[in-house]
Amino acid sequence: MKEKLDNICEECKKEDESVSQNLIMYGYKFCESCRLSKTIFPV
Ligand SMILES: [Zn+2]
Repeated sequence: MKEKLDNICEECKKEDESVSQNLIMYGYKFCESCRLSKTIFPV
């Protein structure tokens, strides 16, 4: 049974291997570049 590990970034809708890794590590379903921009500019 699969969860939402489809590797699609919620920010830019691009597929990237880092999306599932960031989801596990940080709880954010973002690719690496979007995660970095969110880290630099937190909401
Ligand atoms: Zn992204």
